[in-house]
Amino acid sequence: RGTLTVGELAKLLHKDASEVIKKLIVLGVMATINQEIDMDAILLLAGEYGVEVEVKIPVEEDTFETVEETDEEADLLPRPPVVTIMGHVDHGKTTLLDAIRKTNVTGGEAGGITQHIGAYQIEANHKKITFLDTPGHEAFTLMRARGAQVTDITIIVVAADDGVMPQTVEAVNHAKAAGVPIIVAVNKIDKPDADADKIKQALTEYELVPEEWGGDTIFVNVSAKQRIGLEELLDMILLVAEVNDFKANPDKRARGTVIEAELDKGKGPVARVLVQHGTLKIGDAFVAGNCFGRIRAMVNDKGRRLKEAGPSTPVEITGLTEVPLAGDPFMVFEDERKARAIADRRAIKHRQSELGANSRVTLDDLYKHI
Ligand code: GDP
Ligand code: MG
Repeated sequence: RGTLTVGELAKLLHKDASEVIKKLIVLGVMATINQEIDMDAILLLAGEYGVEVEVKIPVEEDTFETVEETDEEADLLPRPPVVTIMGHVDHGKTTLLDAIRKTNVTGGEAGGITQHIGAYQIEANHKKITFLDTPGHEAFTLMRARGAQVTDITIIVVAADDGVMPQTVEAVNHAKAAGVPIIVAVNKIDKPDADADKIKQALTEYELVPEEWGGDTIFVNVSAKQRIGLEELLDMILLVAEVNDFKANPDKRARGTVIEAELDKGKGPVARVLVQHGTLKIGDAFVAGNCFGRIRAMVNDKGRRLKEAGPSTPVEITGLTEVPLAGDPFMVFEDERKARAIADRRAIKHRQSELGANSRVTLDDLYKHI
């Protein structure tokens, strides 16, 4: 529960309550024997006695980033695929992302002001596709290191006038390690020296064999600059999505991942998040990483204010008390009190893991006594 009375703490430390009370006074905390003191005071006191305290957090509250989704099959509905574009520098990732972004704007949202929120959504054949535009390799690696799996499909861009380069291979390895389906976009086919077959040949070494050569990897020839092959690429994304049958339950409290976050001069802490499960709503109390928040406003990539955001929707949210990190999980809780308590515990735990914990007394032991 995150607190203890002075008496309980004294017992745990094998000290006299009166001695503990005196120590607390020295530390600037006035408390009687039956009074609860907060975690910071507990840690201060433990420090005074040279006892390291590890905060063990009840499992359901601690590991929300790894909570298994236990949904009834009937509650799962199709959701848009989340696509990442990777590839070697200068092979055309940014150009391709921009070109796709301009291909189609979700019906009724045309004319909105484009917001850079780390991801965007388009519509192709009346189906939505979400593209993440932050993850370059580093962001992707960072997110994976933090346990966040946000991508459903990876597009690996290879310039047809260049070839398979170190970062191409790195991208292939990342996608494979994450078990994410790969689509190869052979880019710059407008160039006179473009040689798509050479790229295909080179990628067979990495077990990416095109369908026409008996393999099962989808290759699409594109020119991001001349906007050639983009529709086919989008069709292939939808095909892969259909085969993989990406689903989520929209009818529960939201969970997802922070894609980007920063301190905005006017808005305060803002986070761009990808909703992965459930539906995020204005007023929701949530935890992002170690930060607490209550959704004040949500804006999508077209600058439109949303009241709610379902699975695979990227949104910029305000209402945080601090700035979380990219890759942090976020989760909505039933009320503000609970969300605050969990954010606090996570923050303490984080502080401790930074200090390095080789504890003799754990709060888990403490809880057993209470
Ligand atoms: P990134 O580093 O992978 O993001 O690559 P960019 O999108 O910045 O593109 C690198 C360069 O290649 C830029 O000068 C683009 O204009 C150019 N480029 C990108 N796609 C194409 C293409 O399809 N055809 C041609 N000719 N040039 C392209
Ligand atoms: Mg770029």
